[in-house]
Amino acid sequence: MPVCDSCKQEWSWKETMSGSLMWKSKAKCPYCGEEQYMTAKSKRQSSMMSLIPVVPMSITIQFGLSVFLYLPMVIVLGLLAGSLAPRYIKLASYEEPLW
Ligand SMILES: [Zn+2]
Repeated sequence: MPVCDSCKQEWSWKETMSGSLMWKSKAKCPYCGEEQYMTAKSKRQSSMMSLIPVVPMSITIQFGLSVFLYLPMVIVLGLLAGSLAPRYIKLASYEEPLW
């Protein structure tokens, strides 16, 4: 789980998901109120999640499966990735450049 770079408090899964962190890559710490930013590495990892629909699509095409199998695979993988994402997020007190 993410740890605040300022006060070193660990954020819960709910605090991580309910803030703007997942959408804007920054959020106020629920404990100290300091603005926290996702590290560049965390941003790159979360952007890899946008590739999630590609994996089941290639499986579906490779094995000639129905689109009705593709959609549940995307939903399950998306929910799984979304629920695991906060475990890999690291926080910094400043915004790191992506490259
Ligand atoms: Zn804090």
